[in-house]
Amino acid sequence: MRLARTSEELRLSPQGSVGLVPTMGAFHEGHLSLFRAARAENDVVVVSLFVNPAQFGPGEDFDRYPRDQERDIRLAGEAGVDVLYTPAVDEIYPPRFQTWVEVEELGRILEGEHRPGHLRGVATVCLKLFNLVRPDRAYFGQKDAQQAAVVKQMVRDLAVPVEIRVCPTVRDEDGLALSSRNAYLSPEERAAVLALPRALQAHDRALLNGLEVDYFEEADFEPRVLAAAVRVGGTRLIDNVVLEGENR
Ligand code: AMP
Repeated sequence: MRLARTSEELRLSPQGSVGLVPTMGAFHEGHLSLFRAARAENDVVVVSLFVNPAQFGPGEDFDRYPRDQERDIRLAGEAGVDVLYTPAVDEIYPPRFQTWVEVEELGRILEGEHRPGHLRGVATVCLKLFNLVRPDRAYFGQKDAQQAAVVKQMVRDLAVPVEIRVCPTVRDEDGLALSSRNAYLSPEERAAVLALPRALQAHDRALLNGLEVDYFEEADFEPRVLAAAVRVGGTRLIDNVVLEGENR
C-alpha cells in the first residue's frame, strides 16, 4: 500500500477501474467491509482519511475525534487497499475557499436539522474527493443512510461521473452499529445505548425511554429507513434499519 499525503502523490494510472472509500479514520469492521467491497469490484482501491472540519459544528467533537494513523495504515494495508490518501486541511480547503454543495431538501431534515451545516460539509468534501481521485465507484455505509442519500442526490443532480455503492451496516454482537464514536462510551453508557438498535429493530420509540432522543423517524431514502439519533453522556450516536427494498 502507498501513502499519499497530497493529491500529486495520488498518481493513479489511467488504466483500470478505481474504487474510493471516503473515511474519517479510526477504522473498524464497518470501514473494512467497504474496503473489501471496493477491493472485489475495482482494479485500484483508494481510501481517503480526512477528518473533515466542515462537517463538525461548533462545540462538536472535531478536536477529540479518535485519530490513530499508525493503526489505520496497518488495517488498510491488511485489507488490500492500494492507496491511503491523507490530505491536509489546506489541500481540501485552500485559502479563500468559498464554494459549497447544498443538497436542499434532503440536507435539511433529520441530521440536517440537528447538525446545521453537517450535510453541506459532507456533500462538499465528497465532491472534492471525487474530483481529486476520479473514482469509477465510491463506497458508503448504510449506517449513515442520510449521508448516502445526500451523496446520491448530489451525483444525480450534478451529473458527477461516479457510481455510488451502499453497503450494509456492520454491527457488534450485541447489535450496536460499529462507529468510531463508540470509543467515547463508558461501559454503563454502552449498555444504555443498546436501546438504540433494539428500538429500531422493534420499531418502538418507547424503548428509548431514559435516553435523549434527537429524532426517531421514518425517511424516504431509497431504501426507506427508520432512522434515529440519540445522545448518551457527551456522545451522539445515529443508526437506522431498512424498512423495504435492497441496500444496493
Ligand atoms: P466515517 O469514517 O465514520 O466517516 O465512515 C466512513 C464510511 O464508513 C461511511 O460511508 C460510513 O457510512 C461507513 N460506516 C461507518 N460505520 C459503519 C458500519 N457500522 N457499517 C457499515 N459502514 C459503516
